[in-house]
Amino acid sequence: MRWNAQAIATEDADALPGLAKLNNLVRTVQTPEFAGVTFHEVLAKSALNKVHSQSSVPFGWTINPYRGCSHACVYCFARPTHTYLDLNAGADFDNQVVVKVNVADVLRTELAKPSWGRHPVALGTNTDPYQRAEGKYKLMPGIIEALAASGTPLSMLTKGTLLRRDLGLLAAAAETIPVDLAMSIAIYDPELQQSIEPGTPSATARLATVTAAREAGLPCSVFLMPILPHLTDTREHLDNALRMCAEAGATSVLYTALHLRPGVKGWFMHWLQRNHPHLVASYTEMYAESSYAPKEYRRWLSERMGPLMRTHGLTRGEEDPVTGGIRSAALGMYTGGDGERRRRPAGSDPSKMAWSAGATGAKSVAAPAPSGPRFEPSPDEPPPTLF
Ligand code: SF4
Repeated sequence: MRWNAQAIATEDADALPGLAKLNNLVRTVQTPEFAGVTFHEVLAKSALNKVHSQSSVPFGWTINPYRGCSHACVYCFARPTHTYLDLNAGADFDNQVVVKVNVADVLRTELAKPSWGRHPVALGTNTDPYQRAEGKYKLMPGIIEALAASGTPLSMLTKGTLLRRDLGLLAAAAETIPVDLAMSIAIYDPELQQSIEPGTPSATARLATVTAAREAGLPCSVFLMPILPHLTDTREHLDNALRMCAEAGATSVLYTALHLRPGVKGWFMHWLQRNHPHLVASYTEMYAESSYAPKEYRRWLSERMGPLMRTHGLTRGEEDPVTGGIRSAALGMYTGGDGERRRRPAGSDPSKMAWSAGATGAKSVAAPAPSGPRFEPSPDEPPPTLF
């Protein structure tokens, strides 16, 4: 394995205090191809993360091969998770990326345990598995192969066009396990996209990846989120976005308005002040009481989106009546009488079950959880978030 040649130090001289605290740092690396980004390679103790059974996020298990994300989306929900490492939720989240170099090996061991119940696993719930670092570390092929070999369904949400590299593997996996893919594409104005998601591939490149996934025989939805009040909610922008999604062959489209949780709001408002100062007063008022956009705004957005979705012949991701997430072949689960979440039995009728989980689902626009996702934090793995 490529990291075996590295001496394993319990504490690297260059390590930041929070990283040293993990006590499993292999080395800290900077390379010319990734100017400005520092990789902290660690040996993970576990790969599968269990989401608290009471959590409102619509998945039970996650894998995050990276922490931090060079896609650097200003609105990213996951930013506060970097503070677990004593790194900041702003620039450090974008530039200090933790890499679990042994994640596939650890995963294989965990999946081989007789106790593993082949629960659906979500990737892309906290940071992007196909961010630029994946081109260097190539962790995803081993993860996909391990999940497929163990019969574990998977779902993936990403902004990374590097996904195309693994479409053959995913298509092969889909012959034996449910596989759901979703591309996150929120901004269809190139200038705005470069400003607010400076590390991401263009919307055009991501749409081409949706098409490639569909041509590989895989379902691929588009997460058109977050929709930014006054910036991307014009009829013109949404109409153009949905037309492009339809032309790309998106299986369905899921949308929701911007959510500004504590720890992200300050970073976002700083960006807004620099780039769109005339909108600061409006956003301040909209997000004064809650992390969610006001109910009236969400209703207005829904009324605008409904006819446009129909015009373009698009299906909205099927909502879970319990969680407001998206029903999914990979993550389809239901709540039993004992309150435990389980996979839907093969051949069962989903409409007759009390579903509790869907794809890496966004909250329903119409009925967001009042207090946001609940998590079970651990010192090694931050709680999952949604895009
Ligand atoms: S929103 Fe997704 S792609 Fe963007 S920085 Fe966060 S994890 Fe990365």
